[in-house]
Amino acid sequence: MLTESVMNDHFLSLKGETGNLLGKIDWGQTSLGPVEKWPQSLITSIGTALKTKFPILIWWGDDLTLIYNDAYIPIFAGKHPEAFGKPGFSQFGWGEEEVRRVIEPMLRSVMRKGEATWSEDQLLILERKGFTEEAYFTWSYSPITIEGGKVGGVLTIVTETTERVIGQRRLNLLNDLGDRTLDAHSTDDAYAAITSLLREHALDLPFFIIYRIKAEEETAHKVGESNLSARAFVNPEQVTIAKSLWPFAEVIESGKEVIVEDLYERFGKLPGGPWPEPAKTAVVLPIKKPGQNIPYGILVAGVSPRSTLDENYKRFFKLLTSQISTAISKVSALEEERKRIEALQEIDKAKTAFFSNISHEFRTPLTLMLGPLEELLRNNARPIAERHHLEATHRNAMRLLRLVNTLLDFSRLEAGRVKARFAAANLTALTCDLASSFRSAIENAGLQYTIDAEEVGRNIFIDREMWEKIVLNLISNAFKYTLKGHITVRLKLNRGKVTFSVEDTGIGIPQKELPRMFERFHRVQHAAGRTHEGTGIGLSLVSELAALHGGQISVKSEEGKGSVFTVEIPTGKEHLPQEQVEEGIAINYDSVLSEIYVQEALALTRNQVDSSSSKEVQLSEGIPDDLGESMILVVDDNADMREYMCRLLSKNYKVETASNGMHAMQKLAEFRPQVIITDIMMPVMDGIQFLNTLRKNSLTANIPVIVLSARAGEEARIEGYELGADDYLVKPFSAKELLARVKSQIKIAKVRNRAEMHLKNIFQQAPVIIVIFRGPNFIIELANEKLLEYWDRKLEDILHKPLLEALPEISTQGLIEILTGVYTKGERFVANEREVFLKRNGQLESTYVSFVYEPLRNDDGTIDGIM
Ligand code: ADP
Repeated sequence: MLTESVMNDHFLSLKGETGNLLGKIDWGQTSLGPVEKWPQSLITSIGTALKTKFPILIWWGDDLTLIYNDAYIPIFAGKHPEAFGKPGFSQFGWGEEEVRRVIEPMLRSVMRKGEATWSEDQLLILERKGFTEEAYFTWSYSPITIEGGKVGGVLTIVTETTERVIGQRRLNLLNDLGDRTLDAHSTDDAYAAITSLLREHALDLPFFIIYRIKAEEETAHKVGESNLSARAFVNPEQVTIAKSLWPFAEVIESGKEVIVEDLYERFGKLPGGPWPEPAKTAVVLPIKKPGQNIPYGILVAGVSPRSTLDENYKRFFKLLTSQISTAISKVSALEEERKRIEALQEIDKAKTAFFSNISHEFRTPLTLMLGPLEELLRNNARPIAERHHLEATHRNAMRLLRLVNTLLDFSRLEAGRVKARFAAANLTALTCDLASSFRSAIENAGLQYTIDAEEVGRNIFIDREMWEKIVLNLISNAFKYTLKGHITVRLKLNRGKVTFSVEDTGIGIPQKELPRMFERFHRVQHAAGRTHEGTGIGLSLVSELAALHGGQISVKSEEGKGSVFTVEIPTGKEHLPQEQVEEGIAINYDSVLSEIYVQEALALTRNQVDSSSSKEVQLSEGIPDDLGESMILVVDDNADMREYMCRLLSKNYKVETASNGMHAMQKLAEFRPQVIITDIMMPVMDGIQFLNTLRKNSLTANIPVIVLSARAGEEARIEGYELGADDYLVKPFSAKELLARVKSQIKIAKVRNRAEMHLKNIFQQAPVIIVIFRGPNFIIELANEKLLEYWDRKLEDILHKPLLEALPEISTQGLIEILTGVYTKGERFVANEREVFLKRNGQLESTYVSFVYEPLRNDDGTIDGIM
């Protein structure tokens, strides 16, 4: 802070708070004459002006004599001290002409009018740092009044604004970069936008080149530049990184910018932007993703010949590349997302086209099959058995046709090729008719069925066929997933909307599945239900059909309790596309569709078994393996499939059937088949669980199992074997194939059984005690007569029991420890005349035995028993 100014003949000294000298001006030889002759106003002006730390310039008198302070001296760049006290512009250290043009008019106007004025951010070209420099100043001009109110001179305070002006300009560029690339659709677009923006900033970027790096090809490709005249070695379209005259390799390797100071030596004259002198320096900067070190682009940026490459300038370049990188990353993320969406749409289109083609392909042969079949069925004279087969064939061909039709409907809907035709309908009658057709199927299955349809009037416009599909799909689903309780169908009119709902007390839907119910192909992994068959299209089709009616579908459900599906459509026709609305009332005719749906439902009831009892099934031991006539157990939830296999197999074997794994386990309590053939996808207990259960039980573990699956492919086959299946058949299979597989399994089983019998006999007749334990609990698997005699137990009391349960008295005699040792270490144990206490005739008796515990290994070498 300036506290004092002292003036004497020659000097004006300025002192700060601590008395330090802030500035000293030599007034020496001014043309104004000695200081004491100066007018008081001039001296006062100088005094106040000098209290600021800004450069100050006073223009005095008509000849504009210059007086200035120390802070101003650098701006004069070498003209001080000659300029002090001399008149006019001739003394300026820089372009006299420019000063005359810009500054003189301002001065003259202030002198004339006596009013202050200013000029902001005036560009002045200075030579203060040893080179021609771009610099900005804000000037304020205040009149200095002398006696008589005249203006004696002008006080000019000069503030340098170079840093602010250039900083602001660079900031604007950085800000604009984000905006300009906002609409870019591709990275090429973005580079073009960046290039056009950078070209507008030649003051900071006298020239530039942007390259995209292709690391794998080790080349750089030009994607933008200022208007550089083409010189192949300066700005080639494409260059091998290692061969570029720019230090690309160094930049890529280090991930850092490199300054090139010998531009002229390398390239000759490169443009200096708007300035006449060429650029001397350039910076080569990496453009890289945030957090990554390897650049995907390079910016070559010329440094303005009228600036120094100071920290601010360097920071600006770095910010510029990171801004470019952000813009490019954004665009390329969008580009990738768009490509992904386009690819998905392509796939979707292809899939839809494929569906509709394949569906058509199916429909023709199916129609050709159905026609003749119906012809054959019309002949009532056929034997019952033959008729039965024909009916099954017909039923399944119809089912296939329905599936294909649904698929076709779906793909047409997707492709927007379905045009609904809406007409007023007697919706109550139509819905009741459709719903009633299910009555016998539902009631036959032991369910209660209620149809509660109120009169909803005629002001409801629907596409009849679509409405049928909505109703039939929802009711048949309710039937499929409800094993007991009731199904209620409702039709109601409610505030301008018709609601159709189907409520069931079925298995329900897990909470987390609910949001996905109407997605295409989505299915719930259910433990129960009448069947596992299905495609996951039904509900999404219903949802699309409801949407075509300007309506929607919703679901409420609780697992284990039941579900309600509700379709809601508006009344009237205003919401519908007018060209699709037809006049007149749609007539009611018997629905062909409902016939197909109901037939399917009826076929499902034939599958039904009592699967509600899930209590553990006890398998009986006593039934001997029948090596004479072989018995086969067929497990499948599809009644037609079971019948078909029965027919194939019953010529050679006795056949029993079960409709799922649980049912099969119940049946296995009554008899022991030689081979089991099982489907995988079944309700209640599927094939996988069934196999596991079988294999865990020593009584059923050895029964050969052939797995049937609809999933073709090597992977499914391997999966099947891993499950513990002995053989694997993929649907559809030929009768011959099935018979051959069954025959070979029976053969293998017989050989194995015979071998086992043989072994058992040897054991039984052996003159020594033999017992075989299995597993870590030493379950007694085999015991001969001699053992029973020694232990004094009955076979049925000990067989399949853990050793400690059969002989509790040995628990404290160290034998279990020895057995456990043998089991874990796999080393034989030999005992000689060891004392063992056994309970015989209710009393503990001491016995002496010599014995060997021999570890038994299974196929893969692990120990699973002891003999
Ligand atoms: P699909 O029955 O051919 O599998 P849907 O689209 O009709 O196809 O049904 C999709 C899934 O929704 C079914 O697999 C089933 O798990 C579930 N689902 C549909 N209706 C019901 C219902 N009423 N109760 C329980 N689950 C249902």
